[in-house]
Amino acid sequence: MKNRFLREEFEKNIPGEIKKALAFCSKAADELGLPIFLIGGIVRDIIINKKNFDVDITVQGNAIEFAQSLQNKYPEIFKLKETHDSFKTAKVVFNIDGKCVDLDLASTRKESYPYPSGLPVVEKIGCELYEDVIRRDFSINSMALSLNKDSFYRLVDYLNGYDDLQEGVLEILHEKSFIDDPTRIIRGLKFSVRFGYKPGEKTQKLMRECLESGQFDNLAGERVKLELKQAFNLNRAECLARFINEKIYRLVDTGISALENIDEIAFDAQKTISEYSKFIQNNDNIWLIYLGTLLSGCIPEKINHIAQKLYLSGNEKSVLLYAQALCEKQGFLRNSKSRFEVYEFFEKAQIESIIVFLIKNKDLKDKVDLFLNGLKDIKISIDGNNLIQMGLKPGPLFSEVLREVLKARVNGEITSYEQEIELVKKFN
Ligand code: ATP
Repeated sequence: MKNRFLREEFEKNIPGEIKKALAFCSKAADELGLPIFLIGGIVRDIIINKKNFDVDITVQGNAIEFAQSLQNKYPEIFKLKETHDSFKTAKVVFNIDGKCVDLDLASTRKESYPYPSGLPVVEKIGCELYEDVIRRDFSINSMALSLNKDSFYRLVDYLNGYDDLQEGVLEILHEKSFIDDPTRIIRGLKFSVRFGYKPGEKTQKLMRECLESGQFDNLAGERVKLELKQAFNLNRAECLARFINEKIYRLVDTGISALENIDEIAFDAQKTISEYSKFIQNNDNIWLIYLGTLLSGCIPEKINHIAQKLYLSGNEKSVLLYAQALCEKQGFLRNSKSRFEVYEFFEKAQIESIIVFLIKNKDLKDKVDLFLNGLKDIKISIDGNNLIQMGLKPGPLFSEVLREVLKARVNGEITSYEQEIELVKKFN
């Protein structure tokens, strides 16, 4: 292993308050004689000069005991937030110069996979650092940076991560890596699209073999969901296109029928999402638009099945089902004559479903725009109290009358409170 020190990169890319927190950790670890490292994504990002505030630290020993010693040593500025006993990990926070610095502390651990796609079993806690890095996904994510005083800034790179990073290649760490955990394929897609890195030839071959094997019965849907979310939330057409073209969709469901013109659809999806971003309240939901686009041609039973597999929330599932339903009845919108018909078509749909609909029905853009830019926010001024004051008896007629008033407003036939009252009088 080459002797590399990342002093310059560390000093440049780590914010001051995080540096101070790391200095406290370093001192405490030295006193206990514990080897301590920054590890994984943050080391990768230091090297490529990218800011990353997810600070993962690993100690070659017991991270919970280490966190407790930090608590004793720095009670005024340190707080132990939570611990996970079976993995011996801890989430902690330092209060430095009025800022909260969150750190994830883990104990080095050796893991094994008793069966393909299953959850790993912890074999040893506090193992040698090498055992901890060999369980990771790609060489670029397997590097550690020493935080002990006598070797501070030293890069520990057992698996050629530094060179792979410079060359922009993604390499898994052993032949069985994808079989053990196929979600690494989606992670690979994410890193590849995000950084422009390419999987090495052997990694590509092993990925294809894993996807062909179809042995995903034990694969935990929540983990697939988590990775899918991160990949599609990049909002990159390439991600959806490769998800289909490289058959990665098999991890979700082998029966997703691949869309013929996926490159074009993926391109339209990215473009439409960017164009309508001001309507999307939660950017964390972008992935649902991609998934919805893929599934909009499926039958509802299939969508329900996939939603169950991925442990989607009720709301996430309804975005997908609603998108499918809108696409299925697109003829209604196509034939709509009045503004109110457009309103009725979209009124119960969430924005993510509407965008899926638009991606699949580009020629109906005018009507979608009419709804989003005008109709969706139309409200009427009167309510049930006005109707009671006007002598109407509460009952089912109320909602009928209010709906008629709304219809007239949306169609532009009336524009004021007074005109609404006049209209209600006709029902009296
Ligand atoms: P991002 O920049 O997208 O957050 P990250 O590399 O920091 O990416 P995390 O999901 O935060 O990713 O994971 C932290 C580290 O844990 C990774 O860098 C990697 O070393 C390891 N890791 C995460 N998921 C896996 C996995 N499925 N298999 C093996 N190692 C993993």
